[in-house]
Amino acid sequence: MCSANKSVLVIEDNPINMELVVDVLEAAGYTVLQATSAEDGLRLAETHLPGLILLDISLPGMDGLAATRALKRNPATARIPLVALTAHVMQGDRERVQEAGCDGYLMKPIDIASFREDVARYLRGGAAG
Ligand code: MN
Repeated sequence: MCSANKSVLVIEDNPINMELVVDVLEAAGYTVLQATSAEDGLRLAETHLPGLILLDISLPGMDGLAATRALKRNPATARIPLVALTAHVMQGDRERVQEAGCDGYLMKPIDIASFREDVARYLRGGAAG
């Protein structure tokens, strides 16, 4: 049986960014789970075991880096590909994201065409591009 996990968990507190990401993913046929805080995201990840997690780094309360560490520490969620969505362009941010355990990162605002390709690649377990 071919049972690719086409569910994606998006953890993003900005409603405009969330809407765009969800629209693109749903149009591409993915089932999308939404969380607006890291805490809710951790709960949804453990409950639903999505095929991919996209998460904002700048979140109120627990930030995306702390959430990444928590997801990678938890045996139930450690192997889910985890990709940071970040508007940060500061030197060192890529390193911080990777050190926390993210499998890759995508810059916001997203480019719709390349975003779809990137999501498909990460779901297949491809390396960070
Ligand atoms: Mn944010």
